[in-house]
Amino acid sequence: VNAYLFVAPEIVLVDTGISSPESWAALQTGLAAFNLTVADLQRVIITHAHVDHFGQSADILAHSTARVEVADIGAPWLLQPKLMWQRRLDYYAQRFLPCAGLARPQIEQVLAFMGQSRDSSHAIAVERMEQFHIGEKLEMGGRPWQVLHMPGHASHQTSFWQQETGHFLSGDMLLHKTPTPVVEAPVGGEERIPALPQFLSSLDRCADLPIETVFPGHGAPFGDHRALIASQRARIYQRRDELLEMIREGNHALPVLLQGMYGGRSVTAQFAGLWMLIGYLDLLLGDGRLVQKEIGGIWHYFLRE
Ligand SMILES: [Zn+2]
Repeated sequence: VNAYLFVAPEIVLVDTGISSPESWAALQTGLAAFNLTVADLQRVIITHAHVDHFGQSADILAHSTARVEVADIGAPWLLQPKLMWQRRLDYYAQRFLPCAGLARPQIEQVLAFMGQSRDSSHAIAVERMEQFHIGEKLEMGGRPWQVLHMPGHASHQTSFWQQETGHFLSGDMLLHKTPTPVVEAPVGGEERIPALPQFLSSLDRCADLPIETVFPGHGAPFGDHRALIASQRARIYQRRDELLEMIREGNHALPVLLQGMYGGRSVTAQFAGLWMLIGYLDLLLGDGRLVQKEIGGIWHYFLRE
């Protein structure tokens, strides 16, 4: 996980890394290279509230007078992380994973994994937080950075764009490897947000930006973002079409499709695969090419007549 540091005029950290002793040591080593310590940090800016990106925020606040800045739409995940996580866990346990046809032991494994994220998420006190808004500009490194909403991997994710330099602080929007379209729990009585269609439209908006250098949330900085976007988009459409072909051949139940697309992989890879698969299905449902039916408590997909 990358954390980015601005050393002037203010000491600003963008994303923090996960909360762990190794990560804490890595942060201290990184700061020491600039003769700084955690106590010197003034602002901590969060791209999105996933534990690998904001996890160390509470530790940093305990050792500094810094404030944490996050988009208003992501703030609930920092203010009440346990509650937000529990909502997602409940949706996965009661609805999503059973409808995906996962066996009980697999479900328990996934829930245990997600429970770790919940347990390692520490709340930020409201008086130490500042919320910014989509379309605003944040000052970092003495320049204004535009706050862009980049949903897809997380519905509340923001990236930061600096016009003069063409620098793009991406979070997990543009990565070397396509980020997973994480399935989020529906809010209120609403339908679940289709994440992969959102990701594709965020990709389009990134392609429109004259970006010089992408500073991603994982991996080394890179240029030529349009080539990356083109290849990720092509791969998504290719896999979507493979899925459509499987359904055309008479495979309809979600667990059967999961087996066909991601069978023989580890449980973790299959779980990430399930997010991708739901994404491809969301694309086909959104295009009106498929209909979803619940049969025996399992989601099934059929070509629209
Ligand atoms: Zn990440």
